[in-house]
Amino acid sequence: MTRQRSAPLLLTPGPLTTAVATRQAMLADWGSRDEAFITLTARVRARLTEMVGGRDSHVCVPLQGSGTFVVEATLGTLVPRDGKTLVLVNGAYGRRMANILERLGRRHETLETAEDTPPDAEAVAARLASDPAITHVAAVHCETTSGILNPIAPIAAAVAVQGRRLIVDSMSAFGGIPLDLRRVPCEAVVASSNKCLEGVPGLAFSIVRRDALAASAGNAHSISLDLHDQWRAMEGNGQWRFTPPTQVLAALDQALVLLDEEGGVAARHARYAANCRVLVNGLRRLGFETLLPDALQAPIIVTVHMPADPAFRFDAFYDGLRALGFVIYPGKLTKAPSFRIGCIGAVFPKDMEAVVAAIGSVIVGLGVASGAPAR
Ligand SMILES: *Cc1c(COP(=O)(O)O)cnc(C)c1O
Repeated sequence: MTRQRSAPLLLTPGPLTTAVATRQAMLADWGSRDEAFITLTARVRARLTEMVGGRDSHVCVPLQGSGTFVVEATLGTLVPRDGKTLVLVNGAYGRRMANILERLGRRHETLETAEDTPPDAEAVAARLASDPAITHVAAVHCETTSGILNPIAPIAAAVAVQGRRLIVDSMSAFGGIPLDLRRVPCEAVVASSNKCLEGVPGLAFSIVRRDALAASAGNAHSISLDLHDQWRAMEGNGQWRFTPPTQVLAALDQALVLLDEEGGVAARHARYAANCRVLVNGLRRLGFETLLPDALQAPIIVTVHMPADPAFRFDAFYDGLRALGFVIYPGKLTKAPSFRIGCIGAVFPKDMEAVVAAIGSVIVGLGVASGAPAR
């Protein structure tokens, strides 16, 4: 798995650095109504469903667009017009789901915690017990705003016990953090091709309980974002309703082969965890501090406090790293100034060692004595 040397390493939450074989899989043209593409679509859908143990209960409905398109499609299709959703918010992606429901005119409430605090399953249970009108709960698996790992399993148990339905935005976790729908009951899990699956951007998908999807006809506010119609059409003739991102799907198919070769989701999780450890340890040696304690940190993306040293300027830091071949990400926290460095994609512990070395040399060049933040 080598990459083009001319291209920078993308240490971001996606799109991210992909393997050469994945990019090469995009060199062919596909007829969207041709048997070969129908077979490709069916294979990818089955593999994605299988990856989370959903073969007997769930179906995979892929859709053109970025991840948000399918979050919106899933909420719009599964939550009935008279439903009410409790959205768990501890970052921008939870907030986005509330915004989508607001725009759709569907009743919702939020249960908010700070950006460095996971939602509490007992608080969810209490809210559900006090409000029987709530039909659905929407949660984010890894909240990419901070990189925090939210406790989906206890939340799913709390939701299931009270007979409500859980919709999970697992965009930045799917394929990188193990999830088994046989043990963690979710009505739908949403993800995209260009994060831990290490495909390219342009499609996302929802793994939805078959019975819920079958019962959702007529809910959707939109034709192009109607997952029920997309599913019915695909079950009928194996085809996408509207022009599919053919090369993107071919790349995802190849990326799934590489995931199998790596040893599946558990092995990928172990590599990302190793990446994250090398990165965090290296940053701490340079005086930097992470937002999250290790116990809350998902091995996906690390939020780092901005150094207090007045010689530190983020733009110059970014440009210095870019010149050395590394693309990092600005922060997205509402409170503390920060930046983020991703651990996912076709990147390995030696790449994380290299970025730590680059960070060390860039801050020396800026005249920054330490990465320590303000107290
Ligand atoms: C990336 C991401 C999304 C989707 O973002 P797009 O830019 O629409 O692909 C949604 N939720 C989470 C948690 C994400 O990390």
